[in-house]
Amino acid sequence: MPIPNVTMRWAQNQATCKWCKALIEPGQAMVAVFFWNRGNDGKRWNYQYCFHPECWLKQGYDYLERNPYTPYIHSGRQVVKARRTEEERRQRYLITRRFHSLVQRRSNLSNGSKPLISLRLECQMADLILEMQKLGGVPKKWVEKL
Ligand SMILES: [Zn+2]
Repeated sequence: MPIPNVTMRWAQNQATCKWCKALIEPGQAMVAVFFWNRGNDGKRWNYQYCFHPECWLKQGYDYLERNPYTPYIHSGRQVVKARRTEEERRQRYLITRRFHSLVQRRSNLSNGSKPLISLRLECQMADLILEMQKLGGVPKKWVEKL
């Protein structure tokens, strides 16, 4: 996917406004929308659209009018994610790291030879799952690992 990068700057060269098709002269303010592709599909490319600043707003409003406002449904995963605070995200990150290191240690045990150690690790994993639950939900894959 190309990632657009939007900047407002002075036109250096004459350009054509993508919205009204009129010319943007050197020295005028313009909005440049620069699309670039990292090249992970083997192809590196980029291109640029130019707009008069007011035309940039017009095309934005035009888009919004064609795509009317609909409120989010507040049970969706994405919305829950967006509501997390910085601190919750940090805590979740730390717990995730501890959880994965427990999974790693358990898989390093030779098969069935140390059931007590394995059990202890699983208790710790269960504790982390409970902590994660309080911080807004447990990733599905975690429960499968127990
Ligand atoms: Zn224009």
